[in-house]
Amino acid sequence: MSDPDSSVRRVRTRFAPSPTGLLHIGGARTALYAWAFARHHDGDFILRIEDTDLERSTPQALRAILDGMAWLGLAHDEGPYYQTQHMDRYREVIAQMLQAGTAYRCYCTKEELDAMRTDQEARGLKPRYDGRWRPEQGKALPTPPEGLPAVVRFRNPQGGSVAWNDMVKGLIEVSNEELDDLIIARSDGTPTYNFCVVVDDWDMRISHVIRGDDHVNNTPRQINILKALGAQLPEYGHVPMIHGPDGQKLSKRHGAVSVMQYDEDGYLSDAVVNYLARLGWSHGDDEVFSREQFVQWFDCAHISRSPARFDFAKLAWLNNHYLKAMDDARLAALVAPRLAARVAGLGAPAAAAMDLAAICGLAKDRAGTLNELADFATMFYAEPHLHAEQLAEHLKPEARPALRGFADICGTIDWTSEAISAAIKQTITEHKLKMPQFAIPARLLVFGRTQTPSLDAVLALMPREVVIHRLAQGIAHAM
Ligand code: GLU
Repeated sequence: MSDPDSSVRRVRTRFAPSPTGLLHIGGARTALYAWAFARHHDGDFILRIEDTDLERSTPQALRAILDGMAWLGLAHDEGPYYQTQHMDRYREVIAQMLQAGTAYRCYCTKEELDAMRTDQEARGLKPRYDGRWRPEQGKALPTPPEGLPAVVRFRNPQGGSVAWNDMVKGLIEVSNEELDDLIIARSDGTPTYNFCVVVDDWDMRISHVIRGDDHVNNTPRQINILKALGAQLPEYGHVPMIHGPDGQKLSKRHGAVSVMQYDEDGYLSDAVVNYLARLGWSHGDDEVFSREQFVQWFDCAHISRSPARFDFAKLAWLNNHYLKAMDDARLAALVAPRLAARVAGLGAPAAAAMDLAAICGLAKDRAGTLNELADFATMFYAEPHLHAEQLAEHLKPEARPALRGFADICGTIDWTSEAISAAIKQTITEHKLKMPQFAIPARLLVFGRTQTPSLDAVLALMPREVVIHRLAQGIAHAM
C-alpha cells in the first residue's frame, strides 16, 4: 500500500462526470484511475452525476456515461447519485454557514460588480470582489436594500495560504490573496458548482479525489470551504490531460469521441482499458496487462506529471493483441452482430452452415478490430457480386478448364485444407498454370474478391457445395 493515509481512513473515491457531453476517452481514463485506486485499497467507488447545470445536461449524455462505464467494466459500489436530488441538502448547509458566519449575503448588483471591475482594471489591479458585504469585526455593513435578491458568498480566509500534497503533482500552495469570496448560492438560491462538489465529497466521505487537472484551480477553494465546515479533507490527485499525437488539445479527430464509439469501431473494452491505464501511468516497461494486474499495481505516484499523448497505432496494436489472445468462440459471438449488420438478410440457416469461430480464428492474427474481422467474414456469408470487367480481367480462358477440373475434384476429396491444397497443386500442374493464374480467379468466383488468406484455408471454411456451385456458376457466367 503506497498511500499512507489509506490505512487510517476507508478509501472511497468517486467519478463525478457532468452529463453535458459524451463520456470521452479523457473522462474514461479519470474514471479508470479513481476506480482502480478504490479497488487497489479494497475501498468503495462511487458514481456521482453532476447534473446541476440543467440547461447543458442531457439524457443522451447521461446514457453515454452509464453505457460507457458499463462497457469499460468500471462497476460502482454506490450511486449513481444525482446532484439535482441533493438540493435540499445544499440549501441546508448554506443556511448553516450563514448562521455560523462562514458565509454571508452580498447584495451587489451586476452594475455594481461591473463598475468594481472597470475601476480595478483602470488602476491596473486584478479584478476581484472587494468584500463590501463581507462582515468584519467592527465594520459597519451597508443596510441591505429592500426587495433586492442576494447571493451568498463564502467568507474565504484572509492571509496565509492553502496547501495540499497532491498525489500526482506534489506540493501545491496557493495564497488566500488569490482567492475571492466565492459565490456559493446564486440570488435564486441555487447552489453553485464548487459548493455542490464540496458538500457531496463531504457527505459521501470521499477520501481521495482523483480528477483531471482542469480542476486544480478549484481545489484550494474547495479545501477552504471543507475546512470551514469542519470536514475531514480528502487527499487530492490531479491527472494531467490527454493531448493529441501532435501535442494539441485532444479533439474528435484525435479520438476524443464517446467511449461507445470505440465499441462501435470494434475495439475490445479490455484493450481500451489496458490502453488508458498505460496512457499517463506506468509500471516499469509493462505494456500489456489485465484489469486485475492493473488494480494490483496502480498507484498515484506513477501517474505522469506531464500530459499524455494519444496514440491510435498503439491502441490498434493492443487491440490486435487482445483479439489474438481471445478464444475463437468468444470472438465469434462478438463478431456475429457486426456480421449481421453487414450482410443483408443473413438468416440463421446461412449462419449455421458456416463456422464463424474458425473464420475468426483464421483472420484474427492480422485484424486490428472486430469490424475488420466482420468485414473479412462477410465474404463467407454474402453472395459475391461479379462484375463483367472483373471477370474479363481475372478469369482468362486458360484458367477455365482448370477451375472446372478443380470443381470436379472438390466433389471427391476430404474437405480439409490439406486435401484442398493437394487438389490445387494437382490442378495447376495438370493445366500448366502458375499459382496466381488459378488462385486469383478461384477467389473471385467463390468469394467475390481477389485477395484472401491462403486459398486452401479459406476454401476449407466454405461449405463444399457452395464452392462447387460458385465455381460452376462463375465459369458459366463468363462464357
Ligand atoms: N463534474 C466535473 C467534470 O465533469 C468533475 C468534478 C470533480 O471531479 O470534482 O469535469
